[in-house]
Amino acid sequence: MQIHDRIEFLKNEINKSNYQYYVEENPYLSDYEYDQMFSELKTLEEKYPMFKSPDSPTQRVGSVSEKFFQHTHKYRLYSLDNTYNEEELKRWYDRVCKEYDRELELVCELKIDGLAIALTYEKGLFTIGVTRGDGVTGEEITQNLKTVKAIPLNLFQPKSLEVRGEIYMPKSSFEKLNEEALMAGDKVFANPRNAASGSLRQLDSTITAKRDLSMFTYTGIFEDQDDKNNIKTHYDGMMYLKKLGFKVNPNIRLVKNIQGAIEYCKEWATKRFDLDYATDGVVIKVNDISIQKDLGYTSRAPKWATAFKFPPEEVSTKLLDIELNTGKTGVITPVAILEPVQLAGSTVSRASLHNFDEIKRLDIRIGDTVLVKKAAEIIPKVVKVMNTKNHNSLPEYQPPEKCPACGGPLVEKDGEVGLYCQNPECSQLMCAKIEYWVSKEAMDIDYIGPSVIQQLYDKKFISNPVDLYRLSMQDLMQLDLVKEKSASNMYNSIQKSKSNPLNRLLTALGIRHVGKETADILAGEFSSLNELASADIECLSRIEGIGDIIARSIYDYFHDEYNIKIIEELKMLGLNPTSKPKPKSDKLAGKVFVLTGTLQNMTRDEASSIIKLHGGKTSSSVSKKTSYVLAGENPGSKLDKAKDLGVIILTENDFLEMIKT
Ligand code: NAD
Repeated sequence: MQIHDRIEFLKNEINKSNYQYYVEENPYLSDYEYDQMFSELKTLEEKYPMFKSPDSPTQRVGSVSEKFFQHTHKYRLYSLDNTYNEEELKRWYDRVCKEYDRELELVCELKIDGLAIALTYEKGLFTIGVTRGDGVTGEEITQNLKTVKAIPLNLFQPKSLEVRGEIYMPKSSFEKLNEEALMAGDKVFANPRNAASGSLRQLDSTITAKRDLSMFTYTGIFEDQDDKNNIKTHYDGMMYLKKLGFKVNPNIRLVKNIQGAIEYCKEWATKRFDLDYATDGVVIKVNDISIQKDLGYTSRAPKWATAFKFPPEEVSTKLLDIELNTGKTGVITPVAILEPVQLAGSTVSRASLHNFDEIKRLDIRIGDTVLVKKAAEIIPKVVKVMNTKNHNSLPEYQPPEKCPACGGPLVEKDGEVGLYCQNPECSQLMCAKIEYWVSKEAMDIDYIGPSVIQQLYDKKFISNPVDLYRLSMQDLMQLDLVKEKSASNMYNSIQKSKSNPLNRLLTALGIRHVGKETADILAGEFSSLNELASADIECLSRIEGIGDIIARSIYDYFHDEYNIKIIEELKMLGLNPTSKPKPKSDKLAGKVFVLTGTLQNMTRDEASSIIKLHGGKTSSSVSKKTSYVLAGENPGSKLDKAKDLGVIILTENDFLEMIKT
């Protein structure tokens, strides 16, 4: 392709994607692909300036729809130039410092992945709110913005200014919104950014009001003369905005030079996964406002700031196949087999597809180009099919009718999503149960991995987890490549697990809806398997953190003939933990704690144990029943909820003081 044609092609693709992304909220390229095309276009235009035209997307910002009244911005809004590594960051800094012949102070802020807006305040009153749009013109959405609690309607001082910020939806609210939409058969959003944008750009502001939106302010343009005179740095401006009543991200940091900014980027590359809002990078800004003015802007972005982009969390790739696995509950899980692709720093070739309803909802077909997303340690998942031309020519995916492992019939269960194999002799189902039993989360039995389990099962030494406790050294030594030393390691590890506490055994049993957290709650309430087995549904559902569905499931488990037999056998083999930590004191009796953020002197698990030792309880969500929220560094949305409900918030020191004997 000729250079000129390639430039035209890229311009066309980027313009189309801009419209899909900003106006339709349904991008058909991943951000990574978009950024690559954008950067290729920029490089070509720099190399061949004769082909650069004023209508190129590299010369413009975003897009504006005609859905709302259009409003011309008083001050133009810009985008940001991107950097992707340390070298590029340093080059940007060197370019900036060159003119001044000295190091320049910088401000580092998290780059919130949401929607940019500009708010006008006249003598302290919020008067008009507009989206960034194309930077010159935006959509007037004042009524919708008034429903966002983080936007003050009246400032603490009667100041006139324009404030810019990023509207976002907390990750937890986004998940909840999508779950509800799924149940109601409504539109599901691909990510929190789309959800925030879709919620804000509603014609009916009562819908916006129902969505959990918030805003971090990231700059202000001050119009009062005394403010203009007094605020000389970006950082001071931000602290002033905070004083006026705006929500400023607490992780803002002033650094002396680029080294400080690089450290900030490294630190937040992983820490950001603990936040309840999506971030796609760090924004680094020159602190001195007079230098900012001096440096000015390109046609699209300020020269005095740059965005350091984190590795993409979303990429698109080809779906090669759908593998089927039978899990420990018998549920058949479809797994996407992908053309390997780099995602958030690692190569991904498998991703979760959740269940067959999800495949149908997204109309995923083998051969499609799909968008794969990864966040923190969460397994990557397929979030949507990209609009590729060949989609319609591919055959629709048909869910299986038989268990892929044993060929047994598959059934749907009442109130449950998914297809289940119910054959108790299904080898994959039983091996998955045993694998879970030995896992770190459950009985934590070392040296027994999936291949050992498969061999033990195939050689008919075990047919369920209980059989592990009947194995002898001789049995283990019959496995391939197993000598006396490793057989003894396995044997001792199995024996050691007999003295595991009740919470581990309860986790290992794999009772439906009872994971580690619920097992911990149960072990804090009941002193033995017998005591738990004799509890009725009412008694179970009175426990904080145990809902009706979980209570029913526990009750059913202990009243099932097969399970009763298993429990009896376990007891006979010496697995019957009875001890229950006696409260060290009853200082916290009746108190319910919710923990959020990172604690300095202990992990959250340790803090939970301390609370329980003093007779208190913990819960994972803030409600009216919560007595205290213990907040560490970088607390999540639980802190905001606690503030809303007027729940007492404790610092780590307050907590340590409280439990001091
Ligand atoms: P951007 O989102 O990369 O960066 C600029 C924006 O960052 C600002 O407008 C502001 O809203 C935001 N921001 C967040 N925190 C900030 C802070 N602390 N300080 C200053 N600004 C902050 O740029 P953009 O022009 O909005 O969008 C371009 C990006 O959007 C692309 O790089 C791409 O990733 C994505 N995009 C994707 C598609 C697609 O088809 N997938 C299409 C268009 C755009």
